[in-house]
Amino acid sequence: MKKIDEKKRILVAVIIFSVLILGSLGISSVSSDDSPRMVSFEPYDYHTYQEMTELLQNLALNHSDIMSLSSIGRTYQGRDIWMVKLSDNVTQEEEEPGVLFMGAHHGNEKPSFEVCIYFIEYMIENYGNSSLGEVREVFDNTQIYVVPMVNPDGVEAETRKNAAPNHGPFGKSKEITSYGVNLNRNYDDLWFLYYILPVQYGLFFTMEDSSFNYRGPRPFSENETQAIKEFADSHNISASISYHTYGEIIFFPWMHSTQPTRDEALYLSIGENISEMNHYYLYAGETHLIPRFGGTLGSSENWLYREHGIIAFLIELGTQHVPTNSETIQNLCQTHSRINLYMCQRALTIESEKQRAHL
Ligand SMILES: [Zn+2]
Repeated sequence: MKKIDEKKRILVAVIIFSVLILGSLGISSVSSDDSPRMVSFEPYDYHTYQEMTELLQNLALNHSDIMSLSSIGRTYQGRDIWMVKLSDNVTQEEEEPGVLFMGAHHGNEKPSFEVCIYFIEYMIENYGNSSLGEVREVFDNTQIYVVPMVNPDGVEAETRKNAAPNHGPFGKSKEITSYGVNLNRNYDDLWFLYYILPVQYGLFFTMEDSSFNYRGPRPFSENETQAIKEFADSHNISASISYHTYGEIIFFPWMHSTQPTRDEALYLSIGENISEMNHYYLYAGETHLIPRFGGTLGSSENWLYREHGIIAFLIELGTQHVPTNSETIQNLCQTHSRINLYMCQRALTIESEKQRAHL
């Protein structure tokens, strides 16, 4: 017993001694330069539109065998809406399924474009990595399209809507009274329901041009939604994820009601796998009441699915609009790069799964 006590005493003494020595080292290093050594977490440095543009141009230049960069349209303020394509034989349109990833329909939801930019870099970096064979596999068998900033004017202004001027209440007056359209209300899907169920779909808030949910004067009135429409109309897309913040929720059509689509089983199967990866809540229809709580008309998800049968998800990232903690954003990017990769793998069988389900 005594021996153990002695050992304990020695151990305690050693610990105290070490703490003192280390402490004094710490103190001396602080006093040797005048700035206090406090633990500081630098806020995360989000890409600006310009920084993203330069990054994508450099990547496309240095990896022209597997990545191409093109502008699918221009915003009201004249910014290019960049589209990245990742695939083998990247300059050709192949018979491979397309997968579309989008960020920043809402400009002030910064992680939504950061996740897309990270995914592009992740895919390129791991193309030749034999331990990540699935990256190579999706490069070779799918055509991946990424629009990190659907709404670059909104990103630059840090606003939800785009920068189109609105002419008076309900878009009729000649005077510009406010700016911007909520792009994820501007797609051409079921606008007539605003008038049948005005309260449920917030008719006043979507027709009042100063509202943050202003839908625009008519479907596809905006350059940005027009660009996505023309792209989707002319390419073979099987699946899509559009990123937003925040809420840790996964949504899928119908976005305006709880009515299941005829692909509900497929949506659930993919959605549950995504949920297993990010632990987000999968918002599946529980009743058949119209509309669903917080239901929206004119979303890209509804339009992509109804018009082209694209299995389209919306993911509300994280727990804040614009988190500043680097680790938080890093985690969002890594997790959702894996989710995007899974979506590409799944895209290989989506068309045959749909056909089987519709028999
Ligand atoms: Zn959003």
